Amino acid sequence: MTLTTSRSVLELRKTAVPQGVGNITNIVCDRAENSEIWDVDGRRYIDFAAGIAVVNTGHSHPKVKAAVMAQLEKFSHTCFHVAQYPGYVELADRLNHLAPGGSPKKTMLVSTGAEAVENAIKIARAHTGRSGIISFTGAFHGRTMMGMALTGKVTPYKAGFGPFPPEVFHAQFPNPYHGVSVAESLAALESLFKVDVDPSRVAAIILEPVQGEGGFNIAPAAFIQELRKLCDAHGILLIIDEIQTGFARTGKMFASEYAGVEADLMTMAKGIAGGFPLSAVTGKAEIMDAANVGGLGGTYGGNPLGCAAALAVLEVIEEERLCDRALEIGAIFVERLKASSGKEHIGNIRNLGAMIAIELVKEGDADQPDADLAKALVAAASEQGLILLSCGTRGNVIRFLPPLTISNELIHEGLDILDNCFKKLGDR
Ligand code: PMP
Repeated sequence: MTLTTSRSVLELRKTAVPQGVGNITNIVCDRAENSEIWDVDGRRYIDFAAGIAVVNTGHSHPKVKAAVMAQLEKFSHTCFHVAQYPGYVELADRLNHLAPGGSPKKTMLVSTGAEAVENAIKIARAHTGRSGIISFTGAFHGRTMMGMALTGKVTPYKAGFGPFPPEVFHAQFPNPYHGVSVAESLAALESLFKVDVDPSRVAAIILEPVQGEGGFNIAPAAFIQELRKLCDAHGILLIIDEIQTGFARTGKMFASEYAGVEADLMTMAKGIAGGFPLSAVTGKAEIMDAANVGGLGGTYGGNPLGCAAALAVLEVIEEERLCDRALEIGAIFVERLKASSGKEHIGNIRNLGAMIAIELVKEGDADQPDADLAKALVAAASEQGLILLSCGTRGNVIRFLPPLTISNELIHEGLDILDNCFKKLGDR
């Protein structure tokens, strides 16, 4: 079989892969370097997605590549439970020191974001002896059963897949643009404690400091600080899901640093290993040690290639000052987006560092989401050589997640394409 053209791959994909595995674009990748992707037909794309906030250090960063190749020469798998290796332990130690807050920490490694979330919940339950978990409206925590239960959006993530694990409750995420203040969110949480679950039965509250799939909704620092106090008052653990926000993306190593809050448990994945499937749960040592010996882990958890990649990623973030660069990237995007040819369609521009979004609405009205325009923009941009992603519970948010190693020239070239797309589509 010759799968040398996009058309041939897409044709076979139709019969070989189920539709449930969705595709945002029809791009068939041949190779990628830093912030550009070339498809099998030789077309070139500017990448404003970074594999959904994964290649923060760019596609195939030479340092990450070299670290993985060197590890591959030695061995690629032993299973950490069978034979331990330095990379796992070194990475755990690095993450323990990088995680915000002064408490001694421990780290376990797994493979995907959802798996990190599952393990954080297991650990929280083991430590507290409680079952209840609170997450938020618009949250996304993965596609496993518990991940889906925690996720605060039914379509497409949960529809048809239930029943889900019980004892999961959703509280209102604050959203100033849609008229939900921090005080209202906190009141809703208090009401949840009266109506649905006694706080003494709640093991953990899990929060994304900036909601990713939910629309790049930024949790105000005051909200995270109040959650910390509330958790302490009731013996509830605070789990901060930094899977999309982590590893310099927001201008700090972790977004929760902006609030100055120490999580009890933190989940990390995506940007941690520059494209290799690796994820982590880092938490206060005595909490992390609550699970039974043998209760945590898995065959592939903390794969040696992923650990080598992650250690290189951490070096690159430091050497190339990617936290600072994330702030610069965010500022360039926001300035350009404010002057965008589509500005009458943009109800709100928001960013935390290089986690940047525009919310598309009709007639400047926050209550009239324009999901059709978001969809059309993603499609038109991809035809013109720019990879964009949408998100949001209403599907009307375009998010920008370029590699943090992207050049200013490519940012401007990409945003010129976006401007052209707005001009073409704006007057539909
Ligand atoms: N949590 C958050 C905040 C995420 O953004 C994601 C992925 N979009 C996940 C969990 C799940 O990660 P994965 O797809 O690697 O399972």
